[in-house]
Amino acid sequence: MPEGDLRFLSKRLLTDLKEARERLKQSPETSSRPPSSREPWKASLPHDDLSEDASATVEITPVNSTAPSADELPNVVATKPMAVDATEQPKKAGRQVGSQGHSRKLTLPVTQTLAHRPACCSACGQPFTEHTNYRLWNARYELELVEVDKTEAPKLQIDHRQHNYFAATCDCGHDTQRKPGRGVEEDGWCVALSEWHLCGPKLVSFLVCLSLYLRVSRRKIQAFLRDWLGVDLSTSTINQCLHEAGRAVAPVVDEQLVAELKASDLLPIDETHWKEAGKLFWLWVFVSAQTVVYQVGKRHRLVVNQLLGEAFNGFLMTDDFSVYRIFPKRLRCWAHLVRKARALHQCLHNEGQAFGEALLLAMILLMRNIHRLRESPAEADALRAQNQNLLSLLRSLCETHQDVTHEDSRALAREFLNDWEAFVRVIETPSYPLTNNLAERSLRHWVLLRKMSFGSRTTQGSRVIASLASVIDTARLRQLNPWEFIAQALANRRKNQPVPRLPLPALL
Ligand SMILES: [Zn+2]
Repeated sequence: MPEGDLRFLSKRLLTDLKEARERLKQSPETSSRPPSSREPWKASLPHDDLSEDASATVEITPVNSTAPSADELPNVVATKPMAVDATEQPKKAGRQVGSQGHSRKLTLPVTQTLAHRPACCSACGQPFTEHTNYRLWNARYELELVEVDKTEAPKLQIDHRQHNYFAATCDCGHDTQRKPGRGVEEDGWCVALSEWHLCGPKLVSFLVCLSLYLRVSRRKIQAFLRDWLGVDLSTSTINQCLHEAGRAVAPVVDEQLVAELKASDLLPIDETHWKEAGKLFWLWVFVSAQTVVYQVGKRHRLVVNQLLGEAFNGFLMTDDFSVYRIFPKRLRCWAHLVRKARALHQCLHNEGQAFGEALLLAMILLMRNIHRLRESPAEADALRAQNQNLLSLLRSLCETHQDVTHEDSRALAREFLNDWEAFVRVIETPSYPLTNNLAERSLRHWVLLRKMSFGSRTTQGSRVIASLASVIDTARLRQLNPWEFIAQALANRRKNQPVPRLPLPALL
């Protein structure tokens, strides 16, 4: 090339390189890129050690204080994501000194009065009769969504009920009082299960639907209830209702759903990042054919170990995350490998391009054969022979590339070889899925919730979301109404009765 052209070309190359470098350095602080484009481990507020015990460091805000809703957190995170000065005291959660307090401003007329009388003496068991002299000793108010009689026109209406509690004295001299129900204390929960709470079970379940299913913030739920139903609830009451519902259904997840997961023979798993009080956590999902369980925890294999225990004997379906490697009975998601092969095929390195293309072609042919094997078992012998040839080709390709100088080619070749068993399992048993789509699709809704709410504020808040999410998604999978179930579970647990089971669909 003549010298003049060469100089011109090198100037252009230099300009291109500078521009590309500048673009690489772009971040939410220096460009219009949104904060969500940052990697999760960089987006989190500074903290020393991810491995430390979260419960030791996370301050649990009592839910009955005037805690601000989760939608107030974004301001802290969004406006100064990394710029936390060591000398600057973080703003305390809850009502700030000097700010105006909140109390119920609307007093609704009472629409219904209910009497609760003791049936018999709590000391000697003698039943009371219609001649017993009851006296009113206590009362409570309840806001409850009206029971919908399915035979009548549907309606959405709030009843303001007055519950009167009576006491009576037995011939034996003992005084028996009828009292609102209350659940016993449980470890790890600072929200009470109690009939003393203002919102009835159906209204609480409605709030869960608004918050977790429709992803409405506490403040907007408050405005919605005031505008459309004439009910005035504080954001902390709404928060308390959500936490109480989470506590009510937690045993369903811990005792029933996890046991059902352990019995499944194929279990897709996935995880996405989650924020708890600004710290980086992970939201895990485990999806079997009829059960979905979520957990918030560290990104560590212990989460899987603790949930499934030693006894789990099925196959896991996972992506390329390395902690899964220790589980021998496992399937690899092909979509991730196809994506990596495609990226290699489009890279700027000649050898890498060719390797990527060959991998991609072999995988596409194998996938076509797997689909055909599922549909026409008659061709099985011929297809299986073809698959064996394709597999040995793929394997030798990876073996010749496992020590090449091009880094991406080498890494992908080694990834295939390291995870070979998990990769080929679907070829041996074509009825298994090719991708981890089921688990990834389950997480999508909750990823959107995280983006809108910026995660949870406390350990209890994370547990509430994980428990309710598990119950909602499992009920949907089993074609049950999750809201009726949550209301029933809460009504039972407030009376200290056992939680109902989520029935499995009848076998077809
Ligand atoms: Zn008595």
